[in-house]
Amino acid sequence: MDIFSKIAAGEIPSYKCAENDEFYAFLDINPLVKGHTLVIPRREVDYFFDMDDEELARYQKFAKRVAAAIKRAFPCRKVAQVVLGLEVPHAHIHLIPMQSEADADF
Ligand code: 5GP
Repeated sequence: MDIFSKIAAGEIPSYKCAENDEFYAFLDINPLVKGHTLVIPRREVDYFFDMDDEELARYQKFAKRVAAAIKRAFPCRKVAQVVLGLEVPHAHIHLIPMQSEADADF
């Protein structure tokens, strides 16, 4: 099982931000800025495009709700959505509160 599947299953501790049956949101252990959050599917899926269209739509809807909550908790100009996957081979979206244009340089 990959590390994010273990986090979603509660086998590795994390700071939970939101969850439902399919998806889980938690704070990044090495945040670029305060409030940097990761949103993952609970099931073991390597890459974003391994999900079918319906699951992807539900994933985006969940991430959008989490982004709105982050914006309330960490007043900011906007919440950037970044899809990387350079380190962990489990689909995830980074949600990063941005205070100014300069934050785009991180
Ligand atoms: P990426 O795969 O998108 O390049 O980066 C993976 C992200 O996951 C990194 O920002 C890293 O800090 C975060 N990360 C890796 N392992 C853990 C972990 O065990 N717990 C948490 N909360 N974040 C992690």
